[in-house]
Amino acid sequence: MLDNKNTYDLIIVGCGPAGLSAAINAQIRNKKFLLIGGEYCLEKIYKAPRVDNYLGFFAIQGSELKNKFLEHVQKMGIEIQNKRVDAIYPLGKIIQVMVQGEVYSTTALIIGTGLSTPKYIKGEKDLLGKGVGYCATCDGPLYKGKRVIVLGETEEAQEEANYLADICDSVIYLSLHGHPENLKENIKIGEGKPLAVQGEQVFKALETDKAVYEADGLFIIRKETPVQDILPGLNVEKGYIEVDRTMQTNIPGVFAAGDCTGPPYQIAKAVGEGLTAALNAVKYIDSKGEGSK
Ligand SMILES: Cc1cc2nc3c(=O)[nH]c(=O)nc-3n(C[C@H](O)[C@H](O)[C@H](O)COP(=O)(O)OP(=O)(O)OC[C@H]3O[C@@H](n4cnc5c(N)ncnc54)[C@H](O)[C@@H]3O)c2cc1C
Repeated sequence: MLDNKNTYDLIIVGCGPAGLSAAINAQIRNKKFLLIGGEYCLEKIYKAPRVDNYLGFFAIQGSELKNKFLEHVQKMGIEIQNKRVDAIYPLGKIIQVMVQGEVYSTTALIIGTGLSTPKYIKGEKDLLGKGVGYCATCDGPLYKGKRVIVLGETEEAQEEANYLADICDSVIYLSLHGHPENLKENIKIGEGKPLAVQGEQVFKALETDKAVYEADGLFIIRKETPVQDILPGLNVEKGYIEVDRTMQTNIPGVFAAGDCTGPPYQIAKAVGEGLTAALNAVKYIDSKGEGSK
């Protein structure tokens, strides 16, 4: 059951230039919003040795520009939740967002998740939703009393495996992040590098270079899952989220901004699209008769 504490006018996913720009404009428009970014914000800008094309900041070091952006949002009293969004469910009037076990509800959503190019495992995409999933807390109950495998790219994946260990018949954990230290005792450790996801209509097994592990379900927990894989029904063309000039996607109330909508991959474009998305999200929220802090 959602309480008011977890209900927002707007949720912004991503704390790069697009997400932060959307956030400052949502703040100025006095909306109740939540800003969720990954583990590190502005990581790409931090890596830029020198930025020459962002107006007003000629020849600035990426790390310095990062600090200036963060200082800006902090001065406006905006908090960033450094967490991973695992699933997004558009449910008509509201949109539900799953964030590492928490459920949030929002009227509008802005995706500013940048470019994400994970190395999919052979067969993974074909069996997505047919035994292969990315969110254990969302889909875990479907595997009550069954056998599951968790493929963990991050330490946090252990939490998902521990949750499954309480409801599933058996859990195998395959780590891609070094030796897992925080698993429950009833979880078995798998071995090897993943090679292929096996199954015809439904998932049957995960093949590694050391063994083949049979199970009913496979959860792949990456650092960041591309948003099109966690938001069913989102129109994506050649890997980019389709938007109109208001940054609205094909899903009512869902907007997108920045690198995730396509090139040019530039800070100024991300900032501009973040602003456009925020102002149009505000219009959308107001049209629904929602939206005051
Ligand atoms: C080395 C380098 C140098 C560059 N130099 C320049 C330059 O000189 N000038 C210029 O204009 N541009 C430059 N760029 C490009 C610029 O950094 C990008 O265009 C810009 O960062 C895009 O912003 P964004 O907000 O769209 O995405 P990003 O900056 O990629 O931010 C995406 C955010 O989404 C978060 N995220 C993703 N998935 C999830 C999820 N499931 N849950 C929660 N959070 C999630 C990430 O953690 C991140 O915070 C450079 C990039 C690099 C790498």
